[in-house]
Amino acid sequence: MRFAFILLLSILAIPADAQTGWKTVNPEIQSIVDSVSKESLESMLRQLEAFETRNTMSDQTSPRTGIGAARQWIYDQFKSFSPRLEVSFDTHQIPKGGRIYHDVELRNVIAVLPGSDPIGKNRRFIISGHYDSISETSYTAGSRSETKAPGVNDDGSGTAAVLEAARILSKFEFPHTLVFVAFAGEEQGLIGSGRLAKRAKDEHWMIDGVLNNDIVGNSIGGSGKNHNQTLRVFSEEPNDSPSRQIARYVKEAGERYTPAVNVDLIFRHDRFARGGDHISFNRVGFPAVRITVAEENYSRQHTMDDTLEGIDLNYLSRAVRINVAALASLAKAPSAPKLGALGRQPSGYDANLKWEPAEGNPGGYVVVMRKTTSPLWEKELYVGNVLQFVLKDVSIDEWVFGVRTIGKDGSESLTSVWTTSAAPEARTIQ
Ligand SMILES: [Zn+2]
Repeated sequence: MRFAFILLLSILAIPADAQTGWKTVNPEIQSIVDSVSKESLESMLRQLEAFETRNTMSDQTSPRTGIGAARQWIYDQFKSFSPRLEVSFDTHQIPKGGRIYHDVELRNVIAVLPGSDPIGKNRRFIISGHYDSISETSYTAGSRSETKAPGVNDDGSGTAAVLEAARILSKFEFPHTLVFVAFAGEEQGLIGSGRLAKRAKDEHWMIDGVLNNDIVGNSIGGSGKNHNQTLRVFSEEPNDSPSRQIARYVKEAGERYTPAVNVDLIFRHDRFARGGDHISFNRVGFPAVRITVAEENYSRQHTMDDTLEGIDLNYLSRAVRINVAALASLAKAPSAPKLGALGRQPSGYDANLKWEPAEGNPGGYVVVMRKTTSPLWEKELYVGNVLQFVLKDVSIDEWVFGVRTIGKDGSESLTSVWTTSAAPEARTIQ
């Protein structure tokens, strides 16, 4: 939707052809979204359930049950999808302590779809879930890690989402790199994700966003209410953090390609007194969000009752569609512009926005704005391939402004948002 603006002083004329495709449905992304298969998800969940437990402390040697068999199966699944997926175990030796009641080898399973653009491939987007499971009786020493913990929803559903996304997206090529991760050790305190986030930080990975899926399979909550059209996305404070921009992007892209679903943004890092693997990435400064159901069912969590019966496969399919719509859109889009100063020139009462050129060969830029109290962007304006734009008689004190890069194919980058009036390299003191 376009909004009428009372403004102007655009630096250059807007090239009409560069606008082609902006805000429209990209047929390739639509075909990706439409490829999500309920049958594929169901067979993955049946196999994850068949391991009986995927407790991080469970047997690593059986070919049929326990976490060793589960991680090998996930590895083999990734391998089977495409020779272009670079599949590996991210292995860590975790010493005894806390809920780790004996020394254990922990393995995250990772598949990388390298980007096709020589510069763009340095930017990575991650989709993740945790494949380990637990039964409440199995947290501590003396308990039995062999206790059945089917973990079909928590977090077989997120694991299946990651696998299904990899199955579909690995058939395509994107400028940016996509990383598919199944974590272990989540139930012992985000251990696998903590180790990978630290490794990513140490190795200077450029991670532009993490979509962490944890419990995405039940449409009926513990209260008995049906929420089969709603998915929640949690993102850390402050407002306009990079994680919050990811959340807004997931809502826009997800609802564009799966209009039947309402993506409900929750402006909190996670549920009260609960956590998830996205937090490991937030802790070291990477933007990451949690995607989850509208209402949980606690009686089926961390128990032997977390079985396939508690899953709504149609709902899970919708959740995966939201994920792949956002991921494919992000993986195609140009980088977000770096911001310059936000000023009141030339009249002293205008909004004067400056930014730096995005990487590559962008088709143009879109300025977005909303009132400071509004959760979502309210106005969007394609301004052409310019690096400055003036909104006449618009108060910079009353609006939040952002800018996005638009690709030649109409794809949209994440939004860079002014949270200060100064350019990062030239702050002025008032
Ligand atoms: Zn979980």
